[in-house]
Amino acid sequence: MYMKSKYLLFCIGTLFVVACGSTQMITTNPDNIPTAANTETPTPSGPDGLKAEMPKEEVSEPAFTSAEKVGAIMNYLASDELKGRDSGSEGIELAAQFIETHFTKNDIQPYYKSFRDTLSNFSKPAYNIVGFIEGTDPELKKEFIVIGAHYDHIGTTKPVNGDYIANGANDNASGTTAVLEMARYFGQNKSNKRSLIFALFSAEEKGLLGSKHMARNMKEAGLNLYVMLNFEMIGVSLRSKKYELYITGYEKSNLAEISNKYAGDHLIGYLPTAKQYGLFKRSDNYDFYKEFGVPSHTYCTFDFTNFEFYHKPGDEVSEMDMGHMAKIINKMIPVVEGITNAPTQEVVMK
Ligand SMILES: [Zn+2]
Repeated sequence: MYMKSKYLLFCIGTLFVVACGSTQMITTNPDNIPTAANTETPTPSGPDGLKAEMPKEEVSEPAFTSAEKVGAIMNYLASDELKGRDSGSEGIELAAQFIETHFTKNDIQPYYKSFRDTLSNFSKPAYNIVGFIEGTDPELKKEFIVIGAHYDHIGTTKPVNGDYIANGANDNASGTTAVLEMARYFGQNKSNKRSLIFALFSAEEKGLLGSKHMARNMKEAGLNLYVMLNFEMIGVSLRSKKYELYITGYEKSNLAEISNKYAGDHLIGYLPTAKQYGLFKRSDNYDFYKEFGVPSHTYCTFDFTNFEFYHKPGDEVSEMDMGHMAKIINKMIPVVEGITNAPTQEVVMK
């Protein structure tokens, strides 16, 4: 997420006052040790501790991703070795190679001549990494969905307790991991009637430069874009909410409603502070909205009160809840699949 620091201090300051006035601030989650436990369906037991028989139609498919799989990606992307993934640095180059390998392994094609889309609006060498899975339907494949997240972060910063690497686990290794796992799902299953573009953006932290560059080029090339789904800061769960994710620009389209239809659940809600602080304009969805005028939103679980390490060295993997992330990704897969395969374009601007 991209915010000028002065602006952020204002936001957090204001929210702190609001939060302290009404409810106790929760700063740490004692249960955020990476575990698969909360992604697994509990096994029903009979009266003697024996496994109860379940009617066949209720047996659900095993979850696609897990806390372990999510953790493996997160541990690499947010490791000290990548030095905070500053755009144009050696550290982000390692992240770019990791993403390319993930795409290749999972049968995802390069969208351009290679996976790399070189930014024309940044002084150092910087690349969006862009994968593609063509739709299976002869007509619907002419419509495109961009699924994106920025994979850069701010690099190194002023030391805090001797740590100067801003690892960017929540911001935005978490969104990157969600996109990579969804890409793996569709790469393995090829269950998308519309065509999917998986975009990992660079230089978001420099002012949304990667997505600005890509949206402009795609518009000029005449891309038939249906919807843009962006993922940011989903590493820590929302607390005391009746939904598990919010989208920015909630009222601009019916995406929340359609997402909930496919989730079979109240998965997506409205976070008033997201609107108050203009988050719709602070991530990579925004330039797609500006260029194409189609529904373009960011899915997020950061609400200013559930995470205290925004753009700080403390944004580490140890602060992330891998079970939460796996759950969110597993719930989002049928949403993306439903939107991708619906016979008509049901996500519309309001
Ligand atoms: Zn950020």
